[in-house]
Amino acid sequence: MGQLFLKKVRKSFGHFEVIKGVDLEVQDGEFVVFVGPSGCGKSTLLRMIAGLDDTTDGDIVIDAERVNDKPPVERGIAMVFQSYALYPHMSVFENIAFPLRVEGLPEETIREKVGAVAKILQLDQRLQQRPGMLSGGQRQRVAIGRAIVREPKIFLFDEPLSNLDAALRADMRIELTKLHRDLQATMIYVTHDQIEAMTMADRIVVLNAGNIAQVGAPLELYHKPQNTFVAGFIGNPKMNFVPVTCVGVDAVGVTISYEGQTALIPVDGRADLVGKTLTLGIRPEHTRLSDGDINIMVTPSVIERLGINTIAYAVLPNGEPYCALLPGSAPVRAEQPMTTGIMAADCHLFNADGQALER
Ligand code: ATP
Repeated sequence: MGQLFLKKVRKSFGHFEVIKGVDLEVQDGEFVVFVGPSGCGKSTLLRMIAGLDDTTDGDIVIDAERVNDKPPVERGIAMVFQSYALYPHMSVFENIAFPLRVEGLPEETIREKVGAVAKILQLDQRLQQRPGMLSGGQRQRVAIGRAIVREPKIFLFDEPLSNLDAALRADMRIELTKLHRDLQATMIYVTHDQIEAMTMADRIVVLNAGNIAQVGAPLELYHKPQNTFVAGFIGNPKMNFVPVTCVGVDAVGVTISYEGQTALIPVDGRADLVGKTLTLGIRPEHTRLSDGDINIMVTPSVIERLGINTIAYAVLPNGEPYCALLPGSAPVRAEQPMTTGIMAADCHLFNADGQALER
């Protein structure tokens, strides 16, 4: 089992509250990813679960047992860091075996367990080498091996791939996904990398300044962000936000006006929104150069051609950025005005507090 409950968990460093009452349930076998901007408290939350930082308030419960007062080694967790934290003078075998030696297991058992783990991670040919002789990806696999060998209830990963180059990251991402499938263990993973979060997570927890902004399956966050923070954080390039005026609300949706055009956005709204300024959310991938329900004219300052697509970066009249993700051959040029069409069904709408109107 590896079930984790966080109940009203708080953490302060001096007078500075970093985690502000987090409630979360992680089911046995789930792969949960924490994402959020730098400093939002991802690592602090992970370190509290591990027992490396104490908890100012609230409960951390693993398999129905409150573990706040338990030291890290008694929590049944294993943590893998960005920095690998390997012993340079020990062989790969001894690095992986280390936690088993600490436990005092017999040599025979250690050989068996290390052998099995090395096989899973394709390190069986490297067992006698020292970490200095390995690539970054291999070193990270040794660090993961040292975590697996203890058969923890919960794996905690703190940006484990961020020291690797892009190609190796992509390989390791796939390996970690397979590992999760094979071990069926509970994994909690902190990352800055959207692709890692979107591809590996069963559920993503988006943190904002010590609070949970939204928890959900990756595509749920992409399709139904509950607020502008999540809408802007999930998706790359990030969602465009365009100020519009609400001119009508009925059973079918909310009618908005932008620069003399009106469109009916199929979301739930209340009559008291009429006359208010709302924020229309448009993903760059939902813009096109043909006519839409709304057309937004901008002048891109920079065009990036990536082969498969073209990204045009512009600024709206209110000074906010506006980005269009267009086909590779899109006939756009820097400093030349372009009109992007948007379909109402693709749009998100947020109230003045940044909360999404439900679709
Ligand atoms: P990053 O993505 O940059 O790693 P993060 O979301 O993991 O950031 P944390 O490392 O959890 O953020 O830090 C959250 C906040 O807590 C930051 O403002 C940080 O400066 C502060 N903080 C973290 N550890 C300590 C500490 N030991 N003492 C004081 N403040 C700390």
